[in-house]
Amino acid sequence: MQITYAISMLPLLNIAVILILLTVFATHMYLKTHIRTDLHLALSLGLILLLPLMLFGSTATIGEKLDFWSKPYHVAGLTVLLATLAISWLAEKREFSERLPIIVVTIVVACSIVLPEIMAGIIFALSLIFSSLWLYQQATKGYKFEYIRIILFAVIAISVIGGSLFFSEAFAFLYSILILTLLIYETLRYFDRVVFLLRSAGINSITDSLTGLFNKGFLSKKVEQLVQRGDISIIFCDIDNFKNINDKKGHEYGDKVLINVGKIMKRIVNDNGFVCRAGGEEIVCIIVSGDAVNIAEKIRSSIESEVNVTVSVGVASSKELSGQSLDQLGQRTIKKADLRMYIAKTSGKNRVVYSDEKKEESV
Ligand code: GH3
Ligand code: MG
Ligand code: MG
Repeated sequence: MQITYAISMLPLLNIAVILILLTVFATHMYLKTHIRTDLHLALSLGLILLLPLMLFGSTATIGEKLDFWSKPYHVAGLTVLLATLAISWLAEKREFSERLPIIVVTIVVACSIVLPEIMAGIIFALSLIFSSLWLYQQATKGYKFEYIRIILFAVIAISVIGGSLFFSEAFAFLYSILILTLLIYETLRYFDRVVFLLRSAGINSITDSLTGLFNKGFLSKKVEQLVQRGDISIIFCDIDNFKNINDKKGHEYGDKVLINVGKIMKRIVNDNGFVCRAGGEEIVCIIVSGDAVNIAEKIRSSIESEVNVTVSVGVASSKELSGQSLDQLGQRTIKKADLRMYIAKTSGKNRVVYSDEKKEESV
């Protein structure tokens, strides 16, 4: 039995709309900020989006009728799995082994595109059943949010098997709705990331107007997001005797010094992280790659030679706080770097401190 085009294209069209929006926002973010993770997000979403659109273009003509397990359906399922992979990969810190089942399922479904439609449907359903069993095992280990996915995967599997065997329109419709629900659920799960992306589209809300660096709000949000994905380091810089500079040479000259210091830091940190003005003459870098202590030393010496000021610098890594909870880990790393900056201040200024040694000595 065949069903109408309108029902069969429902999940594809809905997914396409959501993906178009997210791709546009992620691209906008990347163009404004050059943040690499947003480029990755834009590219993954864009590629995922191309897949159903290509298939839709090559197989479907308006008004044509499609089998229940038609290729566009098949690709709709694959699209959701890929979207799940891309969003969770970027938003969550997980071991490779924890991601393996969903990677296997995605590969199986991708390979089954070449198989006859009913076989592909059954394989897709079986791989979803395998996933729900695996998720159930994970849930018993403490990943309690997986229960909703287990139910969704299992019911999708049942509707695919039912649709493939009985050629029923009701199963086809159920499948459409479930796939859409799954995507919305995945999007909501990473809601903070998506909201951050949407909000950041108004770029003024995340940058400092004087220096063009990221602002304190961005620093707080970004650091908490990044520690979820891996270790980061913080470089905390404070300009030495800045009040004197203002008093002697005027506030405008002080502003220029701040702008130049920001430029130098941005140039040195480059692709290794983000440079943010935390307030006043305090500039904080989130370092995601490269040797933070080397970068900090380079910042200190370049500022000393290129601008007529010096900075005191504290460096700390979230790795040093490992074993503690992820809650507020970013803020605690900033605090640690701030304390080390203070040690640099009280031990002569114009230096980089990257351990607690001095503090112990000074106590
Ligand atoms: P220390 O070496 O201990 O850091 O001394 P300091 O003078 O740099 O530190 P203090 O906290 O005493 O003074 C910070 C000064 O920074 C005071 C304030 O006028 C100045 N400042 C803060 N924001 C700006 C700004 O946007 N522009 C200018 N020109 N000055 C600023
Ligand atoms: Mg200060
Ligand atoms: Mg200062």
